[in-house]
Amino acid sequence: MGKIIAITNQKGGVGKTTTAVNLAASMAKLGKRILLVDLDPQGNATSGLGINKQEVETSTYELMLGEAGFKQALLPNVFPRLSLLPSSIDLAAAELDLASAERKEFILKKILEKQRKNFDYIMIDCPPSLNTLTINAMCAADSAIVPIQCEYYALEGLSQLLQTIKLVTERMNAELSIEGILFTMYDGRTNLSQDVVENVRNNLDLYIYKTKIPRNVRLAEAPSFGLPVIQYDPRSAGAVSYMKLAREVIKINKKAKKKEA
Ligand code: ATP
Ligand code: MG
Repeated sequence: MGKIIAITNQKGGVGKTTTAVNLAASMAKLGKRILLVDLDPQGNATSGLGINKQEVETSTYELMLGEAGFKQALLPNVFPRLSLLPSSIDLAAAELDLASAERKEFILKKILEKQRKNFDYIMIDCPPSLNTLTINAMCAADSAIVPIQCEYYALEGLSQLLQTIKLVTERMNAELSIEGILFTMYDGRTNLSQDVVENVRNNLDLYIYKTKIPRNVRLAEAPSFGLPVIQYDPRSAGAVSYMKLAREVIKINKKAKKKEA
Protein backbone atom coordinates (compact mmCIF):
# COMPACT_ATOMS: atom_id res chain seq x y z
CA MET A 1 0.00 0.00 0.00
CA GLY A 2 1.36 3.37 -0.99
CA LYS A 3 2.36 5.97 1.53
CA ILE A 4 1.02 9.50 1.26
CA ILE A 5 3.48 12.30 2.05
CA ALA A 6 2.67 16.01 2.10
CA ILE A 7 5.50 18.43 1.34
CA THR A 8 4.44 21.39 3.39
CA ASN A 9 5.48 24.71 4.91
CA GLN A 10 3.26 27.76 4.70
CA LYS A 11 6.34 29.92 4.23
CA GLY A 12 6.81 30.76 0.57
CA GLY A 13 9.83 29.90 -1.54
CA VAL A 14 11.47 27.42 0.83
CA GLY A 15 11.85 24.63 -1.74
CA LYS A 16 8.57 22.70 -1.41
CA THR A 17 7.98 22.35 -5.13
CA THR A 18 11.65 21.77 -5.95
CA THR A 19 11.60 18.98 -3.37
CA ALA A 20 8.25 17.53 -4.48
CA VAL A 21 9.28 17.36 -8.14
CA ASN A 22 12.83 16.16 -7.62
CA LEU A 23 12.22 13.75 -4.78
CA ALA A 24 9.32 12.26 -6.78
CA ALA A 25 11.46 11.95 -9.91
CA SER A 26 14.39 10.48 -7.99
CA MET A 27 12.21 7.89 -6.27
CA ALA A 28 10.69 6.97 -9.63
CA LYS A 29 14.20 6.52 -10.99
CA LEU A 30 14.87 4.10 -8.13
CA GLY A 31 11.94 1.98 -9.33
CA LYS A 32 9.10 3.29 -7.17
CA ARG A 33 5.68 4.08 -8.64
CA ILE A 34 5.00 7.69 -7.78
CA LEU A 35 2.00 9.96 -7.96
CA LEU A 36 2.72 13.66 -7.58
CA VAL A 37 -0.30 15.75 -6.61
CA ASP A 38 -0.03 19.45 -7.43
CA LEU A 39 -2.23 21.14 -4.85
CA ASP A 40 -0.91 24.66 -5.44
CA PRO A 41 -2.84 27.05 -7.72
CA GLN A 42 0.55 28.40 -8.82
CA GLY A 43 1.01 25.06 -10.59
CA ASN A 44 4.79 25.06 -10.34
CA ALA A 45 5.06 21.30 -9.93
CA THR A 46 2.89 20.89 -13.03
CA SER A 47 5.00 23.19 -15.20
CA GLY A 48 8.16 21.81 -13.60
CA LEU A 49 7.31 18.45 -15.16
CA GLY A 50 6.90 20.05 -18.57
CA ILE A 51 3.10 20.33 -18.56
CA ASN A 52 1.64 23.60 -19.85
CA LYS A 53 -0.60 24.86 -17.03
CA GLN A 54 -2.80 26.79 -19.44
CA GLU A 55 -3.57 23.64 -21.39
CA VAL A 56 -4.56 21.47 -18.44
CA GLU A 57 -8.21 20.58 -18.99
CA THR A 58 -8.88 18.63 -15.85
CA SER A 59 -6.94 19.53 -12.74
CA THR A 60 -6.99 18.82 -9.02
CA TYR A 61 -9.61 21.59 -8.89
CA GLU A 62 -12.27 19.71 -10.90
CA LEU A 63 -11.28 16.54 -9.09
CA MET A 64 -11.81 18.07 -5.65
CA LEU A 65 -15.07 19.67 -6.65
CA GLY A 66 -16.34 16.33 -7.85
CA GLU A 67 -16.68 17.57 -11.42
CA ALA A 68 -14.25 14.97 -12.76
CA GLY A 69 -12.96 11.55 -11.82
CA PHE A 70 -9.40 10.57 -10.92
CA LYS A 71 -8.67 8.99 -14.30
CA GLN A 72 -9.81 12.09 -16.12
CA ALA A 73 -7.40 14.29 -14.21
CA LEU A 74 -4.46 11.89 -14.10
CA LEU A 75 -1.50 12.37 -16.42
CA PRO A 76 0.02 8.90 -16.27
CA ASN A 77 3.77 8.35 -16.61
CA VAL A 78 4.81 11.89 -17.45
CA PHE A 79 8.22 10.35 -16.82
CA PRO A 80 8.67 6.61 -16.34
CA ARG A 81 6.76 5.57 -13.17
CA LEU A 82 6.01 9.23 -12.33
CA SER A 83 2.37 10.25 -12.75
CA LEU A 84 0.88 13.67 -12.07
CA LEU A 85 -2.39 15.15 -10.91
CA PRO A 86 -1.90 18.61 -12.42
CA SER A 87 -3.02 21.90 -10.94
CA SER A 88 -4.53 24.90 -12.63
CA ILE A 89 -5.10 28.49 -11.57
CA ASP A 90 -8.78 27.58 -10.98
CA LEU A 91 -7.61 25.92 -7.79
CA ALA A 92 -7.26 29.41 -6.32
CA ALA A 93 -11.06 29.48 -6.07
CA ALA A 94 -11.22 26.16 -4.21
CA GLU A 95 -11.18 27.83 -0.80
CA LEU A 96 -14.45 29.61 -1.57
CA ASP A 97 -15.99 26.87 -3.66
CA LEU A 98 -15.43 24.26 -0.98
CA ALA A 99 -16.53 26.50 1.86
CA SER A 100 -19.91 24.85 2.24
CA ALA A 101 -18.91 21.36 1.16
CA GLU A 102 -19.57 18.53 3.54
CA ARG A 103 -16.49 17.26 5.37
CA LYS A 104 -14.47 19.62 3.22
CA GLU A 105 -11.19 18.74 4.96
CA PHE A 106 -11.41 15.13 3.81
CA ILE A 107 -12.10 15.52 0.09
CA LEU A 108 -8.56 14.79 -1.02
CA LYS A 109 -8.25 11.90 1.43
CA LYS A 110 -11.29 10.25 -0.11
CA ILE A 111 -9.79 10.57 -3.58
CA LEU A 112 -6.27 9.40 -2.73
CA GLU A 113 -7.21 6.59 -0.37
CA LYS A 114 -8.50 4.60 -3.35
CA GLN A 115 -5.21 5.09 -5.19
CA ARG A 116 -2.84 3.75 -2.56
CA LYS A 117 -2.74 0.35 -4.20
CA ASN A 118 -1.59 1.81 -7.50
CA PHE A 119 1.45 3.69 -6.23
CA ASP A 120 4.34 3.19 -3.81
CA TYR A 121 4.36 6.85 -2.79
CA ILE A 122 1.91 9.67 -3.29
CA MET A 123 3.48 13.10 -2.75
CA ILE A 124 1.50 16.28 -2.36
CA ASP A 125 3.01 19.66 -3.20
CA CYS A 126 1.23 22.14 -0.90
CA PRO A 127 0.61 25.84 -1.45
CA PRO A 128 2.34 28.41 0.78
CA SER A 129 -0.57 28.85 3.18
CA LEU A 130 -2.47 27.03 5.88
CA ASN A 131 -5.78 27.08 3.98
CA THR A 132 -8.36 24.41 3.16
CA LEU A 133 -6.10 22.91 0.49
CA THR A 134 -3.21 22.44 2.90
CA ILE A 135 -5.54 21.04 5.56
CA ASN A 136 -6.83 18.60 2.92
CA ALA A 137 -3.24 17.51 2.26
CA MET A 138 -2.60 17.06 5.99
CA CYS A 139 -5.79 15.03 6.40
CA ALA A 140 -4.92 12.80 3.44
CA ALA A 141 -1.27 12.27 4.38
CA ASP A 142 0.44 9.70 6.56
CA SER A 143 3.32 12.07 7.08
CA ALA A 144 4.75 15.46 6.22
CA ILE A 145 8.15 16.51 4.97
CA VAL A 146 8.90 20.08 6.00
CA PRO A 147 11.50 21.86 3.88
CA ILE A 148 13.30 24.68 5.66
CA GLN A 149 15.41 27.16 3.79
CA CYS A 150 18.71 27.89 5.49
CA GLU A 151 18.29 31.63 5.91
CA TYR A 152 17.85 34.14 8.66
CA TYR A 153 14.05 34.02 8.93
CA ALA A 154 13.89 30.25 8.44
CA LEU A 155 12.16 29.48 11.69
CA GLU A 156 9.59 32.23 11.43
CA GLY A 157 6.17 30.65 11.13
CA LEU A 158 7.49 27.21 11.98
CA SER A 159 5.72 27.10 15.33
CA GLN A 160 2.46 27.99 13.59
CA LEU A 161 2.99 25.10 11.19
CA LEU A 162 3.77 22.68 14.00
CA GLN A 163 0.71 23.91 15.88
CA THR A 164 -1.48 23.29 12.83
CA ILE A 165 -0.08 19.79 12.39
CA LYS A 166 -0.77 19.13 16.07
CA LEU A 167 -4.35 20.33 15.70
CA VAL A 168 -4.85 18.11 12.65
CA THR A 169 -3.51 15.08 14.52
CA GLU A 170 -5.76 15.78 17.49
CA ARG A 171 -8.94 16.46 15.59
CA MET A 172 -8.82 15.07 12.07
CA ASN A 173 -5.99 12.71 11.29
CA ALA A 174 -4.37 10.93 14.22
CA GLU A 175 -2.05 9.10 11.82
CA LEU A 176 -0.26 12.21 10.61
CA SER A 177 3.37 12.43 11.67
CA ILE A 178 6.26 14.63 10.70
CA GLU A 179 8.45 12.44 8.54
CA GLY A 180 11.34 14.85 8.72
CA ILE A 181 12.79 18.32 8.37
CA LEU A 182 14.67 18.90 5.14
CA PHE A 183 17.20 21.69 4.92
CA THR A 184 17.26 23.32 1.50
CA MET A 185 19.53 25.88 -0.12
CA TYR A 186 22.14 24.80 2.39
CA ASP A 187 25.63 26.24 2.25
CA GLY A 188 27.87 24.46 4.74
CA ARG A 189 30.54 27.16 4.36
CA THR A 190 28.38 29.79 5.98
CA ASN A 191 27.75 30.12 9.69
CA LEU A 192 24.16 31.04 8.91
CA SER A 193 23.31 27.65 7.37
CA GLN A 194 24.97 25.85 10.26
CA ASP A 195 23.21 28.05 12.81
CA VAL A 196 19.79 27.33 11.30
CA VAL A 197 20.43 23.58 11.46
CA GLU A 198 21.75 23.76 15.04
CA ASN A 199 18.82 25.87 16.11
CA VAL A 200 16.30 23.31 14.82
CA ARG A 201 18.32 20.42 16.21
CA ASN A 202 18.46 21.97 19.68
CA ASN A 203 14.89 23.19 19.88
CA LEU A 204 12.75 20.63 18.12
CA ASP A 205 12.51 16.93 18.67
CA LEU A 206 12.09 16.06 15.02
CA TYR A 207 13.95 13.87 12.56
CA ILE A 208 16.33 15.86 10.40
CA TYR A 209 17.29 14.29 7.10
CA LYS A 210 20.99 13.52 6.89
CA THR A 211 20.81 14.68 3.30
CA LYS A 212 20.85 18.45 3.00
CA ILE A 213 20.01 20.08 -0.30
CA PRO A 214 22.70 22.57 -1.34
CA ARG A 215 22.02 25.80 -3.13
CA ASN A 216 22.55 24.76 -6.74
CA VAL A 217 21.73 26.79 -9.82
CA ARG A 218 20.82 23.67 -11.84
CA LEU A 219 17.88 23.11 -9.48
CA ALA A 220 16.61 26.59 -10.27
CA GLU A 221 17.14 26.20 -14.03
CA ALA A 222 15.59 22.76 -14.52
CA PRO A 223 11.90 23.85 -14.20
CA SER A 224 12.21 26.26 -17.10
CA PHE A 225 13.05 23.23 -19.26
CA GLY A 226 10.16 21.27 -17.76
CA LEU A 227 12.54 18.68 -16.40
CA PRO A 228 13.41 17.22 -13.02
CA VAL A 229 17.06 17.95 -12.30
CA ILE A 230 18.07 14.27 -12.68
CA GLN A 231 17.07 14.58 -16.34
CA TYR A 232 18.32 18.11 -16.85
CA ASP A 233 21.77 17.62 -15.34
CA PRO A 234 22.16 14.28 -13.57
CA ARG A 235 25.68 15.09 -12.41
CA SER A 236 24.86 18.37 -10.74
CA ALA A 237 25.08 18.69 -6.98
CA GLY A 238 21.31 19.22 -6.93
CA ALA A 239 20.60 15.97 -8.77
CA VAL A 240 23.05 14.01 -6.64
CA SER A 241 21.53 15.33 -3.41
CA TYR A 242 17.92 14.61 -4.38
CA MET A 243 18.90 11.06 -5.38
CA LYS A 244 20.56 10.72 -1.99
CA LEU A 245 17.44 12.04 -0.28
CA ALA A 246 15.29 9.57 -2.22
CA ARG A 247 17.44 6.70 -0.97
CA GLU A 248 17.24 8.02 2.58
CA VAL A 249 13.45 8.35 2.49
CA ILE A 250 13.02 4.87 1.02
CA LYS A 251 15.40 3.38 3.58
CA ILE A 252 13.62 5.00 6.52
CA ASN A 253 10.26 3.75 5.29
CA LYS A 254 11.57 0.25 4.75
CA LYS A 255 12.76 0.20 8.36
CA ALA A 256 9.42 1.52 9.60
CA LYS A 257 7.58 -1.18 7.67
CA LYS A 258 9.80 -3.90 9.13
CA LYS A 259 9.07 -2.61 12.62
CA GLU A 260 5.35 -2.76 11.93
CA ALA A 261 5.52 -6.32 10.62
P1 ATP B 1 6.07 28.47 -3.01
O1 ATP B 1 5.87 28.67 -1.55
O2 ATP B 1 5.92 29.73 -3.81
O3 ATP B 1 5.29 27.33 -3.55
P2 ATP B 1 8.28 26.68 -2.78
O4 ATP B 1 8.38 26.50 -1.31
O5 ATP B 1 7.58 25.63 -3.55
O6 ATP B 1 7.63 28.08 -3.15
P3 ATP B 1 10.36 26.48 -4.72
O7 ATP B 1 9.48 26.98 -5.80
O8 ATP B 1 10.72 25.05 -4.74
O9 ATP B 1 9.76 26.87 -3.30
O10 ATP B 1 11.71 27.31 -4.65
C1 ATP B 1 11.70 28.73 -4.63
C2 ATP B 1 12.76 29.24 -5.61
O11 ATP B 1 14.05 28.82 -5.19
C3 ATP B 1 12.58 28.69 -7.01
O12 ATP B 1 12.96 29.65 -7.95
C4 ATP B 1 13.55 27.51 -7.06
O13 ATP B 1 13.99 27.24 -8.36
C5 ATP B 1 14.66 27.98 -6.16
N1 ATP B 1 15.31 26.89 -5.44
C6 ATP B 1 14.70 25.95 -4.67
N2 ATP B 1 15.60 25.12 -4.13
C7 ATP B 1 16.83 25.54 -4.57
C8 ATP B 1 18.17 25.10 -4.35
N3 ATP B 1 18.44 24.06 -3.55
N4 ATP B 1 19.17 25.79 -4.97
C9 ATP B 1 18.89 26.85 -5.75
N5 ATP B 1 17.67 27.30 -5.99
C10 ATP B 1 16.63 26.68 -5.41
MG1 MG C 1 5.74 25.69 -4.56
